[in-house]
Amino acid sequence: MNVHAPLPTTADKPLIDPFGRAITYVRVSVTDRCDFRCVYCMSEDMNFLPKGDLLTLEELDRLCSAFVARGTRKLRITGGEPLVRRDIMKLFQGLSRHLSSGALEELTVTTNGSQLARFAKDLAACGVRRINVSLDTLDPAKFREITRWGDLGKVLAGLDAAQAAGLQVKINAVALAGVNEDEFESMTRWAHGRGMDLTFIEVMPLGDIEAARVDQYLPLTRVQARLSEVFSLEHSDYATGGPARYMRVKETGGRIGFITPLTHNFCESCNRVRVTCTGTLYMCLGQEDAADLRTPLRASESDEALNAAIERAILRKPKGHDFVIDRTTRAPAVGRHMSVTGG
Ligand code: SAM
Ligand code: SF4
Repeated sequence: MNVHAPLPTTADKPLIDPFGRAITYVRVSVTDRCDFRCVYCMSEDMNFLPKGDLLTLEELDRLCSAFVARGTRKLRITGGEPLVRRDIMKLFQGLSRHLSSGALEELTVTTNGSQLARFAKDLAACGVRRINVSLDTLDPAKFREITRWGDLGKVLAGLDAAQAAGLQVKINAVALAGVNEDEFESMTRWAHGRGMDLTFIEVMPLGDIEAARVDQYLPLTRVQARLSEVFSLEHSDYATGGPARYMRVKETGGRIGFITPLTHNFCESCNRVRVTCTGTLYMCLGQEDAADLRTPLRASESDEALNAAIERAILRKPKGHDFVIDRTTRAPAVGRHMSVTGG
């Protein structure tokens, strides 16, 4: 026996859940704060976490790196609005070492676009190649109504900066009954005209908001039916490792994605977990069960306890969520907002 050979550690083993799904994609929320107050995501008057509860940027780096060491190939930085966290580029700069080493395939971000004019170049310099920008309407007044505080002009300038920096942009739009229904065709033409894919998302029952979810909810089966009246939609095998199903639009040559947690459950192929800015690991977006990673992270400088906590948590990953939106189900499926868990 070679006494100098390194002992096998748990850190060499990939994370596999009880249903045989390999966990290779981690979404990390770096803040619960945001410069917008989208009506489906937050109430106008939100209570945010005390800053001391948040993981520091160094702790976030350690946590992400622990997942990368256990086989995570894709890291998505999200929030709240990730680009409003102070010095956030330091996290991207640090994590880019895993891209350089080949351990990580993709480092990406989901943003509302408000700060992109400032940060697009830096993101590209950190090895970010593709980003998701959330945009539900191209009408400035409607944009203000949906986001309450947002300015469409700023987001469009951010998109210009992102594309000029060479970032591939995907637009995410939440389908909202009676709000942006009339824009699906024009948004498709606009996005595809700029070389961007467009993905529609069904509104999910996460957190208490002022409005009733049932009034916002628009099943994407209806969106797809409406789009197929004006476009020829063809099935596409394109996949990004996320939950969207894609269709190609013959007329524009672009792609439309559909994220349908309610009408079409995508849990069987779930490869994801989410970590909040306080180091809480959620094994499923739609379930309450969670694991505290902050305590083991802070307990020691070695990652042994952290690794063990991650491993134990993955063994509890549930088979799927059970979202319901109907007139009799008034309470949200889970109490926390999307801005806490990270979208
Ligand atoms: N602030 C960033 C943004 O808006 O892109 C990142 C975080 S945001 C929570 C991530 C995504 O979640 C956005 O595309 C947003 O539209 C979506 N989202 C928020 N609340 C939602 C809900 N209740 N149902 C479906 N999507 C939601
Ligand atoms: Fe902020 Fe994004 Fe939530 Fe809108 S969806 S309030 S931009 S976190």
